[in-house]
Order: sequence, then structure tokens, then C-alpha cells
Amino acid sequence: MEIIWYHPSQSATAWIRGLQQRLPQARVRAWQPGDEGPADYALVRSPPAEMLRGRATLRGVFALGAGVDEILKQLEQHPGMLPDSVPLYRLEDTGMARQMQEYAVHSVLTWFRRFDDYQLQQQQACWQPLPPYARETFTVGILGAGVLGQSVAEGLKPWGFPLRVWSRSPKTIDGVTSFAGRDALQPFLQGTQVLINLLPSTPETINLIDQHFLAQLPHGAFFLNIARGAQVVEADLLAALESGQLKAAALDVFQVEPLPEAHPLWSHPRVTITPHNAAVTLIDEAIDYIARAITQDQAGETPQGRVDRQRGY
Ligand code: NDP
Repeated sequence: MEIIWYHPSQSATAWIRGLQQRLPQARVRAWQPGDEGPADYALVRSPPAEMLRGRATLRGVFALGAGVDEILKQLEQHPGMLPDSVPLYRLEDTGMARQMQEYAVHSVLTWFRRFDDYQLQQQQACWQPLPPYARETFTVGILGAGVLGQSVAEGLKPWGFPLRVWSRSPKTIDGVTSFAGRDALQPFLQGTQVLINLLPSTPETINLIDQHFLAQLPHGAFFLNIARGAQVVEADLLAALESGQLKAAALDVFQVEPLPEAHPLWSHPRVTITPHNAAVTLIDEAIDYIARAITQDQAGETPQGRVDRQRGY
């Protein structure tokens, strides 16, 4: 069995060593331009078109992350780069769910306990206790109820906030209210005090979070974006922060990354920024997951995590 690997910025060493240990019958190599040798599986992040094109023996491609928007965009730009018959898989959880829980719990508690307000007051040496928010109306609404959205809901449960999710299809999650489909978006947003975005980036969700969308939240709501920057119209986000429609935002992802130095989001007093690392791919967990999936595929079973290319996630 031949496995090729490509990542534009990571070293291949740990990946190849780990894969080789877990799949001793395989030959694993880092793909280089010009390599047209045999390949049964490809493990990739932003692969050049020539890496995948024309590979008749390929049985599966594994994206080295949870989101596949980037690779689907590449497939669109390069017709024939990967036939529809070759399954594309993504990473499900592999340690990212816990990282997302940490980020979400941190942000929600910061806002609920008004630590952001106290941080601003401290800059003025201002000793001023502020009225607390009521837990029973501090509703957290999660856009996306997939692997990561549901996990974030679970992580927030111990804190007792009302929880709701919005997804394409209805969900049954103990202690969480499910809203599904476009018609349910308005009622979902109207009752959401803290909005957490965990949607995949697809043609349907790009620029979804705009002025009209944000205007449906209660005045003074909070926004956490840990999914993709392409889903947010940043000028509208800034306007909502300026007007007080949004009280604060925590942002991990942006339309342009790295976020340009002169971008007004950097210096907004109500915005906190992280450099697209809300949940990173953990190599050992990812290798375990991919090795298991390849073993299943070799045994004629269906591995989990197959992407529906038409749907876009
Ligand atoms: P999943 O595919 O498991 O879940 C996606 C969820 O979004 C599903 O509940 C789906 O609904 C819902 N959804 C998709 N399209 C729509 C739509 N048009 N309207 C309503 N709901 C929709 O993905 P994950 O939870 O694993 O990951 C989510 C995203 O998080 C990734 O795509 C990636 O972009 C981002 N991410 C960001 C990271 C970071 O560091 N910033 C790290 C990892 C991931 P349904 O259940 O009905 O299908």
C-alpha cells in the first residue's frame, strides 16, 4: 500500500514516522513535485493539483483538518484534479472538540462574569462593581450542530446557561433546543445572547453573518467566531460593534489571514483576536484516526468522515 503526504508548511517527519508505525504494511512518503509514483491514499493540506491529478489507483484523500472548504475550492478551480468517485475524508474531532470547548467556555464565562468590562475599567484604575447578568437569560446559541458544535454545547452544559443550536437538520440533544433550517434562523437569533459560529464554510454560509443577520440578535449580544472568516462581512461586524448591537466579539478567523496590520479589528477595544488556532490538528490523534480509516477501507468497511462534495461539508 502506497501513501503520499503533503502539507505546505509542516515537517513530514513526525507524520511519516507515526503513519509507518501504525500501518507497517504501508510505504509512506512525502510527495514532491514530479513524483508520479503509485499512490493508494493521499493525506493533504492545500495540495498542488498535479499531486492528485490522473492518479487512477487512488482509493481516498484525507484532508488534514476538519474543514474542507479550501480543498473543495481547489477542486473547483482545477476540474479533473480528483474524480468524484474518489472519496474525500476529513478529520472528525481528533482532539479538536476539546480545544473548541476550552475556547468557548473561556469566552462565555469572560462575558458572563464581565471580566472584559473589568479589564477595561482596570485601565482607568476604576473600582466599580457592575450588575451581574442573569444566568437564565444568558442564552448561548451555536451555529452548526455537528461534531464540534455539539461538543461545545456539551462543554457549556455544566454552567447552566440556556443552550440552543441551529443546523440544517433537526437534532435531539438532551438539554439543548434545536432550531433547523432557514425558517428557524430568526427565532434562533432573536433569543441568542452569545452567538458561537461553528458552521462549515460553504456557498450557503459564505457572508451569511452580515448586518441583517446581526440585527436579529438582542441588542448588546456577544459573538464568537471559531469557524471561518469568509462567513462574516467584517464591515458589518465592525458597524454592529460601533452601534452597541454587539457588545463584544472574540475572533479566531478572518476574511484575510494573517489579519492585515492596519485592520481596524486589531485595535477595537471590544474585540479579542487569536491567530486561527481555536483548534489545531493534533498529529498523534490525526494519525490514529487516519490509520483506522485506512484499515477499515482496506477491510471493505466504510470509514467515517466522508465529505459530501455537493453539500460542501
Ligand atoms: P460538521 O460537518 O460535523 O458540522 C457542521 C454543522 O453545520 C452541521 O450541524 C450542519 O447541519 C451545519 N450546517 C452546515 N451547513 C448549514 C446550513 N447551510 N444551514 C444550517 N446548518 C448548516 O463540522 P465540524 O463540527 O467538525 O466543524 C465545523 C467547522 O469548524 C469546520 O467546517 C471548520 O471550518 C471549522 N473549524 C475551525 C477551526 C479553527 O481553528 N478555527 C478548527 C476546526 C474546524 P446538519 O447537521 O444538519 O448537517
